[in-house]
Amino acid sequence: MSITNQQLFDRAQRTIPGGVNSPVRAFRQVGGVPRFIDRAEGPYMIDAEGTRYIDYIGSWGPMIVGHAHPEVTAAVQKAATRSLSFGAPTADEIDMAEAICKLMPAVEQVRLVSSGTEAGMSAIRLARGFTGRDAIVKFEGCYHGHADSLLVKAGSGLLTFGNPSSGGVPADLAKHTLVLEFNNIAQIEELFAKRGSEIACVIVEPIAGNMNFIRGTQAWHQRLRALCTEHGAMLVWDEVMTGFRVALGGAQQVYGIRPDMVVMGKVIGGGMPLAAFGGRADVMAKLSPLGSVYQAGTLSGNPLAVAAGMAQLRLIQQPGFYERLSATTQKLMRGLEAAAARHGVPFCTDSEGGMFGFYFSTRLPQNYPDMADADVEVFKRFFHAMLDRGVYLAPSMFEAGFVSAAHGDVEIEATLSAADAAFAELA
Ligand code: PLP
Repeated sequence: MSITNQQLFDRAQRTIPGGVNSPVRAFRQVGGVPRFIDRAEGPYMIDAEGTRYIDYIGSWGPMIVGHAHPEVTAAVQKAATRSLSFGAPTADEIDMAEAICKLMPAVEQVRLVSSGTEAGMSAIRLARGFTGRDAIVKFEGCYHGHADSLLVKAGSGLLTFGNPSSGGVPADLAKHTLVLEFNNIAQIEELFAKRGSEIACVIVEPIAGNMNFIRGTQAWHQRLRALCTEHGAMLVWDEVMTGFRVALGGAQQVYGIRPDMVVMGKVIGGGMPLAAFGGRADVMAKLSPLGSVYQAGTLSGNPLAVAAGMAQLRLIQQPGFYERLSATTQKLMRGLEAAAARHGVPFCTDSEGGMFGFYFSTRLPQNYPDMADADVEVFKRFFHAMLDRGVYLAPSMFEAGFVSAAHGDVEIEATLSAADAAFAELA
């Protein structure tokens, strides 16, 4: 027999902390052995044992056209023949900047970086540099990457491990991060009334995908927009997950709200390390080399990453792309709800475009405390029942799920038949 996932996990743990290069991959919340992936095609991932799974993680969001899409792969192969990195500007970077500015009207200028963390961290620095203020506001359960200032009551892996903050973050720095409850209008009004002139920015995931899937209400988002304008604070939307995922124009299109700055990643890199931050031209003009706010990167705008990202951006602009993606997601959600109902399991879902969440409850959560009340045990049992039947869901109930354009009726039917059996086990 070929090598097993268990053998690889044992070996990995000897030289890699926890055996993984990003914590949530370790299956800590759900238990069991992480799958070591050998390759992936379209909507499927195949592990080292040769087992094939329908993938609803999509590398945590980037793979919106499915794995190893021929056009994305060809673009990377072609770019690779021209050298892997130049450390000098390229025409292709301009194409990408123009594409992003066209698709997201709030982005008048943009800078490319290599990870969402870097983009979020740089946006915060720029907001502070532009306003001359230190305090930032974030919301409990939202994750904006692992920069120090943002690891205060962050979501995702930090919630999965029941640790609302992180070791190694100086209290002196964390004190500038003010954390409020998601979707709570009274709290943000009170904070601005007391300390409005100290606030550099409010950073928010418009639809939070790091405490499962929780929508910011329209009224709350409008209030955040108005308060930031009134007090001269930057409204920063972290669209690393929602950008080009919930709609072609991201959550900005869904809500019709224009932030001052936008943080992007995942889909724009097509699976390569590429992210970006951008926004108002007057704010971006503060960045080095024009202004006093420093930010740089050896591999920023890497030609392979730009090639993959541009190929994917071309594909998602094809007519009907998001209509089809949403229809697939809706079919999955309605089918899961029906299967749960058949077995009397309390269950509900929410989704937008190709991003979704599901809960073992009859009420959609509104904020992090609602999510924290969710039953981890039932999630674990469901996760393993699905994995055993070849469906690979996020191994944490705090993570959103992703559907790709490569998921078709065959995969949705197979997922729903697995779910029927999984709900039967839970009933
Ligand atoms: N912001 C959001 C909303 C995210 O979901 C993530 C990652 O999942 C990040 C920022 C950080 O991005 P990266 O993992 O590329 O550093």
